[in-house]
Amino acid sequence: MLDTLHRIVQEVNEARGLKHALGIIVERGAEAMGVDVCSVYLVDREADEYVLMATVGLNPDAVGKVRLRRGEGLVGLVGEREEPVNLEHADQHPRFRYFPETGEERFHAFLGVPIIHFRQLLGVLVVQQQAARSFDDDEVAFLMTMAAQLSGAIAHSEVSGGIDGLQDHSLSRGAALQGIAGAPGVAIGQAMVVYASADLNAVPDRGTDDPEQEVQTFLTAVQAVREEVQDLAARLAGSIPAEEQLLFDAYLRMLDSSSIVGETVELIRQGNWAPGALREVISKHIKVFTEMEDPYLSERASDIRDIGRRILMRLQLDSGDKREPPPATVLVGYELSASQLAEIPPDRLVGVLSVRGSGSSHAAILARALGVPAVMGVGDLPVGRLEGKQVIVDGYAGRAFIEPPPPVRQEYNRLLRDEAELSAGLRAMREVPAETADGARIYLHANTGLLSDINSSLEVGCDGIGLHRTEFPFMVRNRFPGEEEQTVIYRQVLSPFAPRPVVLRTLDIGGDKPLPYFPVVEENPFLGWRGIRLTLDHPEIFLAQLRAMLRANIGLGNLRIMFPMISRVEEVDQALALLRRAHAELCEEGRAVEMPPVGVMIEVPSAIFQAEELAQRVDFVSIGTNDLTQYLLAVDRNNPRVARLYDDLHPAVLRALQRLVETVHRQGKPVSVCGSMAGEPGGALLLIGMGIDSLSMSAASILRVKWAARSIPQSQMRALLAQALRMETAEEVRELLTATIEDAGLGGLVRAGR
Ligand code: PEP
Ligand code: MG
Repeated sequence: MLDTLHRIVQEVNEARGLKHALGIIVERGAEAMGVDVCSVYLVDREADEYVLMATVGLNPDAVGKVRLRRGEGLVGLVGEREEPVNLEHADQHPRFRYFPETGEERFHAFLGVPIIHFRQLLGVLVVQQQAARSFDDDEVAFLMTMAAQLSGAIAHSEVSGGIDGLQDHSLSRGAALQGIAGAPGVAIGQAMVVYASADLNAVPDRGTDDPEQEVQTFLTAVQAVREEVQDLAARLAGSIPAEEQLLFDAYLRMLDSSSIVGETVELIRQGNWAPGALREVISKHIKVFTEMEDPYLSERASDIRDIGRRILMRLQLDSGDKREPPPATVLVGYELSASQLAEIPPDRLVGVLSVRGSGSSHAAILARALGVPAVMGVGDLPVGRLEGKQVIVDGYAGRAFIEPPPPVRQEYNRLLRDEAELSAGLRAMREVPAETADGARIYLHANTGLLSDINSSLEVGCDGIGLHRTEFPFMVRNRFPGEEEQTVIYRQVLSPFAPRPVVLRTLDIGGDKPLPYFPVVEENPFLGWRGIRLTLDHPEIFLAQLRAMLRANIGLGNLRIMFPMISRVEEVDQALALLRRAHAELCEEGRAVEMPPVGVMIEVPSAIFQAEELAQRVDFVSIGTNDLTQYLLAVDRNNPRVARLYDDLHPAVLRALQRLVETVHRQGKPVSVCGSMAGEPGGALLLIGMGIDSLSMSAASILRVKWAARSIPQSQMRALLAQALRMETAEEVRELLTATIEDAGLGGLVRAGR
């Protein structure tokens, strides 16, 4: 049975559109269960009806015509109860409704199961048989499993509008599609879909008469792609800093690597033609990466796929994409690569939407560097039907809308207008200090990671950098950056802000930030070898970084060092010992290094309960609410399936934060928040109410938070916090915050999409 199910699911996933998929479901379903009839009814939300969408056994002419109101008939009963209905004599049931056009009066036995996707009823799968009989447990279980397995595929093609041909309106038009916030901001634009330019999977094996000639053809194609990538990098040279351009070096390295080029040449010499040899090598490499099931490494698989396609396109002498991108282009693709983004002129690109990927995809990193909102991992994105359609990209909430209905469009247009108006008001905020209406001074710091972040942080004016993520230079190289290289990079971060403080966080790789050249394969990367755990196990990597940080600070004196992912006190002791060692070594070498203030991040639940001991050991504490929320709520921050459950306003998170602030203050140490909660006006009000010393956020949020902080007295924020702490759900807290911000006349500051 399992095998059968597996086969059906696979066939359905490969189907060309909804009609084809449903055809497979009913045919294979009837076959597998040995029944006379198998049908699918789907919910048409606009008409609030069920529509017969596919059948074997009933009159095929009834497809698309038979419609039942939501509560009508046995199908309606299954939908209402959201559980199977198993009847020996269906025709005698009071809810039985007879449709002459189906010819169903002959069938007595009825089994219907609901098709549910993410709590939403999509339809009902029904089998019927002439003989009166009750279906046994195994049969009910089989049909339910089939409906559950197929619900994703049905939801996907449903949003694709695959239903047309059977009826002319798409069932889910206007619904929000959930993904992962990849780059902040909101955009309304016209979709431009980019496909894999060449389909490697479709390439057959073929012999070659002249392998050496074939090798030459292949190497010429590789060279052409190398030049193409260099051109793309050059085109963006004015828009992103040199450091970020290293993304493209990753591509060039792949083209230079003996693994891809060398292995392909080898296969050509063994007699396969170039495209066939290339397909084999690329798919082997992709398989290795995707099997690692690690989010960052599977992103590397997409880079390899992209390189493979580009070479194939050259081999096929395809002249490339000649379409003119619309003036407000939202780039849409199944698995967008950084190079595909780079191909759109920056002044036309307003948004990015991708079916696959997460915040750590190269496409998302580039979108952030370009200041373009991006939503990644939108599993239900109907890529095939989006060309030219109007789409909304909400990079704050990680949502997208296709051909949004007027109310949604109006709401987002209002938001864009508000943002434009706001920016005038916000500009005025640049010159004034961050002070609450009753005079409490709050320090607002920026979070940086890319060098592009530095300029924007300087522009908005901030009190320093509260979190500089050091991973990026490690991610875009093909080896660990050396001490000298790191010294140069850190100095570029420290010096523009001196004497304002800059917190450099030591390497936080692992989890969602692994390195391509240091693959860590783990079942549970977020509970595995990440952050301080990894660097303590590799003191040579850690010491090089610490030495570089200390050296970069010579003559500046604004460095602070922070350790991520601390879950036990020993980690702090060991990290401090290594820092002292690095410091002593450098002094011995005659370098004028100072011992900087040191802090720890609190982002693991155990650290909440040892905050006292941790705070005693260091000079400051910074709370990473992104990880803390994910670990407290057991919700993966990068998983779109549970994105709705990830909420830093959850009362459990708020109570943990308040306890932390009190504990750290009792030790006489300052405490800040550097997770994204600090950058949301509502979240910031609560944190200021807790008495937090500083907030660190992306540069784009600083002026908004400053405005909110200046508009409301701290005493009111304390009262707001007290009220929020008594609430039971995140929803209530959010409503309270929104109302407070609106009452203060700052409605525009409340971010959209939630
Ligand atoms: C956090 O976890 O809140 C944080 C700031 O660190 P990162 O997002 O880099 O994990
Ligand atoms: Mg973190």
